[in-house]
Amino acid sequence: MFGPTPIHRRCYRPEMPVPRRYTTDAIVLSRFDLGEADRVLTLITPGIGKLKAIAKGIRKPTSRIGGSLEPFAELQVALARGRTFDVVTQVSVGHAWLNLRDSLESAATAWYLAELADRSLEERHAAEPLYALLRRAYELLDAGMAPDRVARWYEMHLLDELGVRPEVDRCVECDRMLEADGRFRWVPPLGGVLCDRCPGPPHDRAGLSLEALKLLKAYQRLDVAALAALRIQGSVERETEAALREFTRQALERDAKSLAFLDEIRHTAVQELS
Ligand SMILES: [Zn+2]
Repeated sequence: MFGPTPIHRRCYRPEMPVPRRYTTDAIVLSRFDLGEADRVLTLITPGIGKLKAIAKGIRKPTSRIGGSLEPFAELQVALARGRTFDVVTQVSVGHAWLNLRDSLESAATAWYLAELADRSLEERHAAEPLYALLRRAYELLDAGMAPDRVARWYEMHLLDELGVRPEVDRCVECDRMLEADGRFRWVPPLGGVLCDRCPGPPHDRAGLSLEALKLLKAYQRLDVAALAALRIQGSVERETEAALREFTRQALERDAKSLAFLDEIRHTAVQELS
């Protein structure tokens, strides 16, 4: 977990007592098998935030809830308070987002987005904005928007929710407006873009192209329909991807495990095309 960043002000409310039995919307963020037939799930919910729950006997063929308690779906989950984990008693599927699973790249992207949400939250603090963000991203993947654009849009808005919106309009050191004929450096530890007049950190960084800077601004300002319609050079998309991933890694203080898998899939896809 990362330290006392502003997300605690934005997304968290004082803990409220949860009744013994309750029902909530939820999306599965991760899961692992426990014992002979049980499974422990990490769920994100709008009102209670992130929580761990146990589904008992879910891996038995006779389980009533087995098939529905899956990732990449918005679920309605009934839970009973338990000592270590709350216990899942009933599940129904609200939105299945079946198209999202059709492509390996969009499914791997969905895992990556879930992992980022997981790492951004502490357990049992309300998380409506992050829940809404993840839900929207899954809708977009399901609707067929390019997975890398959904991922960039999500990273940018997640950073915003975490209270660490990247600065792409002014120099992070001298506060001057960045000008189109200037030269820029991307310095995540300082919070964004540095102009060429400021020395910045001692180890020099590669410059950020004007096109990548414009695309970063677009991810902050444009709605998803406009983003989906943008025509962008591949090299600029890759530069922007590297920039936003680095910023996100910095904000969450580590690499996402699911990125290695996502990159492998994309690498394989490129080889198959060539
Ligand atoms: Zn400057």
